[in-house]
Amino acid sequence: MASSRALYDVIVIGAGIEGSSCAYNLAKEGKKVLLIEQFPLPHIRGSSHGQSRITRYAYSEAFYVRMMVDCFPMWAQLEKESGKDFFINCGVLDIRDRTASAQKVVSSLSAYDIPHEHLLARDIRRRFPMFNVSDKDQAIYDPNGGLIRADTALAAFQKVFTQFGGTLHDKELVRNVKPGSPAKVVTSCSVYAASSVVIAAGPWTGKFASELGLSLRLQPIKVIPMYWRIKPGQEEAHQSGKFPCFIDTRGETKGSFHVYGLPCEEYPGLVKVANHVGAPCNPNHRDLLDEDDSWVIDQVKQNVVDTFPGLEPEPAIIESCIYTMTPDNNAYIDRHPKYNNIIFAAGFSGHGFKLAPAVGKAVAELVTGREPTYNMKPFKIGRFDTLAKL
Ligand SMILES: Cc1cc2nc3c(=O)[nH]c(=O)nc-3n(C[C@H](O)[C@H](O)[C@H](O)COP(=O)(O)OP(=O)(O)OC[C@H]3O[C@@H](n4cnc5c(N)ncnc54)[C@H](O)[C@@H]3O)c2cc1C
Repeated sequence: MASSRALYDVIVIGAGIEGSSCAYNLAKEGKKVLLIEQFPLPHIRGSSHGQSRITRYAYSEAFYVRMMVDCFPMWAQLEKESGKDFFINCGVLDIRDRTASAQKVVSSLSAYDIPHEHLLARDIRRRFPMFNVSDKDQAIYDPNGGLIRADTALAAFQKVFTQFGGTLHDKELVRNVKPGSPAKVVTSCSVYAASSVVIAAGPWTGKFASELGLSLRLQPIKVIPMYWRIKPGQEEAHQSGKFPCFIDTRGETKGSFHVYGLPCEEYPGLVKVANHVGAPCNPNHRDLLDEDDSWVIDQVKQNVVDTFPGLEPEPAIIESCIYTMTPDNNAYIDRHPKYNNIIFAAGFSGHGFKLAPAVGKAVAELVTGREPTYNMKPFKIGRFDTLAKL
């Protein structure tokens, strides 16, 4: 094993969307940054691969809307810097069955003057006739939202990061982090030293946390993206010009889970519809999970049958991916309580892709000790009282 030669300002562990954004933001500020990824890039073993992710302003929590106010222009800036287009502005329909929860989204969007429309069932049927809704349903339409081509966006962060002078090592496993000033990062190839370390290892983050004396409440789950064939003659209605991305939380009041979907932009003739749930898994054995997940598929089947008369009722493609959940669905974006120069960015609970530009900015502020732009309270490590004895 080679010994450390260079002192980096920052080492970022994990080249998923969050680590890549952190590395990009820090390199853009002129920091000397090393981004380390265990797998050869690109890979499909974490949470950031694939063709599509929903992006939207429409959140009930105002602090997420504030982050999205920055994210939209930051994604556009990355498109410019990388020369790659990856955003499709097809709008997002947020379908709900309770006035109170719809009102929360409306209030959060109004607080930041974000354009939106509150649609009643008759408006949804008129505007989006491919959705079958009941009379009591309503929706918030977010016209600025849409779809991000995930693989292209991830590659864009990594490309521009290296153009800003960053160093990217893939096929290099980080074995552990040794606290100190500088901290040491021991990998399968070398030992490096850095003034700060950012741990953005997605579903593998728990191991680093426990070795550093923290029991973060991170639970990886295996989720199942599904793609549904459009019935003959219905193709045009399901393309991105006419069919929006959607989030459907109506099932939550009946003890079911929220379902989401995207227009036909990934596989020809197929629409993505999936749900926000799955069984706990070990990220190293995701595809060997010995658990019957037919209930996950059955729930989405029911939603497709009830809501989309233009789709065939059986999935045509079934894939697998991972979410890293926390109890409140907010990530940890915070300094280690004892080792000030070690920062965590993990636990994005199935909705972190769109937020990545703001996460990178927030982490750069933590690294450099600047005033935070965002409300960081929801992301604090200590919020669940689950710190191990330090
Ligand atoms: C099917 C699916 C649909 C989704 N839809 C949406 C959506 O519509 N909108 C949205 O905003 N979000 C969505 N998400 C969530 C979003 O994609 C994730 O929140 C985000 O990708 C998490 O990124 P990450 O960087 O934290 O994790 P990851 O992508 O898992 O990255 C972590 C990286 O760290 C590396 N790593 C781990 N351990 C080590 C080590 N020891 N040494 C070196 N490298 C290491 C891993 O190999 C990995 O590349 C979806 C997720 C899935 C799975």
